[in-house]
Amino acid sequence: MKSKFCIKCGKKTETLFNGLCEECFKEMNELISVPEKAKISVCKICGRAKIKKWEKIDIDDAIKRLIKTNGKLEKIKIEKEWKNKKLLVKIKASGFLNEKVKKSETKEIEITIEEKLCDTCGKIVGGYYESVIQLRSKDKNKLEKTLRDIENIVYNNNGFIVKILKNKNGVDVYITPKSLLNKISRSIKYNEIKTSYTLVGMKDGKNLYRSTMLLRL
Ligand SMILES: [Zn+2]
Ligand SMILES: [Zn+2]
Repeated sequence: MKSKFCIKCGKKTETLFNGLCEECFKEMNELISVPEKAKISVCKICGRAKIKKWEKIDIDDAIKRLIKTNGKLEKIKIEKEWKNKKLLVKIKASGFLNEKVKKSETKEIEITIEEKLCDTCGKIVGGYYESVIQLRSKDKNKLEKTLRDIENIVYNNNGFIVKILKNKNGVDVYITPKSLLNKISRSIKYNEIKTSYTLVGMKDGKNLYRSTMLLRL
């Protein structure tokens, strides 16, 4: 077979990758790329993390989002260590840059963790909630089952249950955001529905309404 030469180091080789020998190709190409520094906010109450917006993810998930992969990853290991109030993250990755070339890399990110209140918890701590679902039924099992269904819908949609108050007529569920009311009423079985709005104050110069949805099961 005819030999070729690497355009970078001049080494004689049979296989070139973009004109480079395997060694130089590995040197010039990254399997993963990460920022040197990053900032992640973590909610003190619910543990949600934020890089750009608040999401139901933990620190490990947030770290994974900072990693960009330029090949096919086979293995990735994330090690964390606290140093001077910063989280030093070591990422060991191995995988393929292309069909033939395998590479292992270790990269580091210095992460500043900020403990904060997420938008949702901030509102709750401020005693603020946007909507109430009043579940009414004499059938306790039906009430319990519907309550569980509502909890699932709220959590699966990044919402929050502020409080649940049981009374003799049924259960009141305080949730945020109120946009979830439509989703809930579409997925829950009921006999009667009534929605009303109460003016509860002002926010940013606009009237702020609380929605109340009464469901007779
Ligand atoms: Zn070379
Ligand atoms: Zn939170």
